[in-house]
This record gives sequence, structure tokens and C-alpha cells, in this order.
Amino acid sequence: WLPVLVGGVIFQEQPRQMVTFVLDNSARKELEQRKDDFISMANHELKTPLTAVKLQIQLARKRFEKHSQHEANTALARVEGPVKQLERLITELLDVSRMQAGGLEYRREQVIFDELLRETISTIHHLHPSHTILVRGSVQPTLMGDRDRLGQVFTNLLSNAIKYSPDAQTVEIDLSASDDAVTIHIRDHGLGIPRELRDKIFERFYRVTDFKRKAIPGLGMGLYIVDKIVKHHGGAISVDSAVGKGSTFTVTLPLMRDV
Ligand code: ADP
Repeated sequence: WLPVLVGGVIFQEQPRQMVTFVLDNSARKELEQRKDDFISMANHELKTPLTAVKLQIQLARKRFEKHSQHEANTALARVEGPVKQLERLITELLDVSRMQAGGLEYRREQVIFDELLRETISTIHHLHPSHTILVRGSVQPTLMGDRDRLGQVFTNLLSNAIKYSPDAQTVEIDLSASDDAVTIHIRDHGLGIPRELRDKIFERFYRVTDFKRKAIPGLGMGLYIVDKIVKHHGGAISVDSAVGKGSTFTVTLPLMRDV
């Protein structure tokens, strides 16, 4: 808008230009705010597990010096959790930056959907043994796509269903298939998502930061990655939710599609 003001020629254009400026400015402010939030969240999310790793290693070293090998081993075993957490965050950060640069590569292979889902559920169940994952239906046909990336979609959605349900222990999965697509509903009975934020949660680095979610870790990358992978496979993702009651994420993927 500056050249218009300097030239002062197209005065009639000025109100429109000013509106554009105001909108741009508030969008820029939101973006900057999100960037600041991300940096402080990333700082916290990366440093917390790193501090835990450092502490346990120091402890193990001290215990080794005192010749208590068993206790040293116990301390070292405690490193595993935070190291996995760091690994997941770093992988997601790299995925996001590759996606931004348009450089994420996908394999194209035959995927036996039921098998993939069974494996994903058993991994998640191993991490959260006190939760019940209820599966209804099955999907016989195969999909064409990247097995690991599709696994990432369900791992993320199931982890979120558990993570954002601090007081509920059951997650339900409903599977169905038509002639040309499979549909997966993942339903939890957790915190839910306010209606006005249901599109935003798929944006990069967007997190809902209400009081109940403050202590729940995350960087707002999961659903952005999930959405991109689903779209790459020609599918769609949507969410239905009621605050305080729970959410249902629905993924539809076309069958045997060339990607
Ligand atoms: P993160 O979990 O790291 O914040 P995601 O991209 O996976 O990142 O999710 C974005 C936001 O969407 C989260 O901050 C959370 O508030 C909300 N969300 C995602 N899944 C659920 C769910 N199953 N129930 C309630 N809220 C959810």
C-alpha cells in the first residue's frame, strides 16, 4: 500500500489498500504469535526429555562408581522413554520441514489394511496398557500407498485419542469398506474440540491451549502431518466433536489407487 500513499495518485484505491493492510497485519501478528508460541513450546518439549536423559545418565554413572550395577541399569532403562519422545519430536519436525519444502517421498506398495491396523493398535496398546481399544468391523481389500506413512496416520490419531482423554479409558475404532474406499472412525470420550477450532487443528504448529490441555505435551505437528499423508493418498479426514464429551476422527481412503 505504500507506493499508493507516496504517489497519492490512486486515492480512490486507498480504502481498499488500507483494509488489505489491516488484514495482512493481523494475519502477520497471528503468525508471529504462533511462531513465538512454537519456539517456547519446542524449547520446553525438547528440553524436558533431554534433562531427564541427562539426569538418569548422571545417576547411572554414580551408581556404577559405587559398584551397584543393577541400580545403574535401572537408571539407564529410564532413559528409554524420554529418548523415544525426543526421537518422535525430531522425526516430526523433519517431516514437517520436508513437507514444507515439497520433498517428502512416498513409497507405493500394496498395503494390507487390517494387518497394518492390527500392528498399530498393538504398538499403541503396549504403550498404554490400561486403555481399551475396541475395534468393530474389518477391511478385507488392500490399499495402494506408503505403509509406514499410513501407519503414522493411525498411530497419531490413536495417540491423540488417548492423550486428550485424561479421564476416559476407551477408544473405539469402526471400520467399513465400500467398492472403492475404506472408512475408519476413531472415537474417544475425551476433552473434545470447540467447533470454531475444528479446521485450525490441522494447521501447522496449531495447538488448542485451554486450561485442561496445558499440561498435555505436543507441538501441533501431528494432525498437520496426518492431513498431508491422507491427502497424498487421495483420501480425506474430518472431525466431529462435542466439548467435554469426545471426538470422532474419520478417515476415508480410496482403494487400490495409484499414488
Ligand atoms: P499436538 O497433539 O502436538 O498438540 P496435533 O496436531 O496432533 O498436535 O493436534 C492439534 C490440536 O488438536 C491439539 O493441541 C489438541 O488440542 C487437538 N486435538 C487433537 N486430537 C484431539 C482429540 N482426539 N481430542 C481432543 N483434542 C484433540
